[in-house]
Amino acid sequence: MQGPFLADLASAGFPRESIDTVLCTHLHVDHVGWNTMLVDGKWVPTFPRARYLMGRVEFAHWRDEQGRDDMAAVLADSVAPIAAAGLADLVETDHRICDELSLVPTIGHTPGHVSVRINSQGEEALITGDFIHHPCQIARPEWSSTADTDPREAHRTRERMLGELCDRPVLVIGTHFAGATAGHIVRDGDAYRLAV
Ligand SMILES: [Zn+2]
Repeated sequence: MQGPFLADLASAGFPRESIDTVLCTHLHVDHVGWNTMLVDGKWVPTFPRARYLMGRVEFAHWRDEQGRDDMAAVLADSVAPIAAAGLADLVETDHRICDELSLVPTIGHTPGHVSVRINSQGEEALITGDFIHHPCQIARPEWSSTADTDPREAHRTRERMLGELCDRPVLVIGTHFAGATAGHIVRDGDAYRLAV
């Protein structure tokens, strides 16, 4: 799978060296998989000139976790090589990256999970990460995905975030939404829905 991805980047005019920042909302396999690539049997950073931003809490949690062989494998091939190369910056859950980009703590899916707030030219958007996996959780915030580390905390986070986003001009960009990827949160009875 490395080939098509890197070919896409190259054809879009983005040599790997041109990427200066990589942000991991959390450290699940599908959110760190492109951090590295396999070259001659060794996992190396895909973007050799980038700073890789990872949550300090998130990193420490999975580093110290015992009994999750799947996560140990993910850290070994997609996170440890970044740290070993000196490219990892461990940041807080409310870290401000630049004037336009900042992190929003959305804990529960994982212990250090963040979403990404974008403010640009008077408009605002939020990239969810995985605090919501599917728009059905906008109507039923109490529904957790099996990947949520702490389902109750994840539920509280969805209620808080949906309440904050509701009926506001914030484009919500779902990381895993199929069909319409983005829309606005609007009130719908006791809960909410995604207006696209
Ligand atoms: Zn996840």
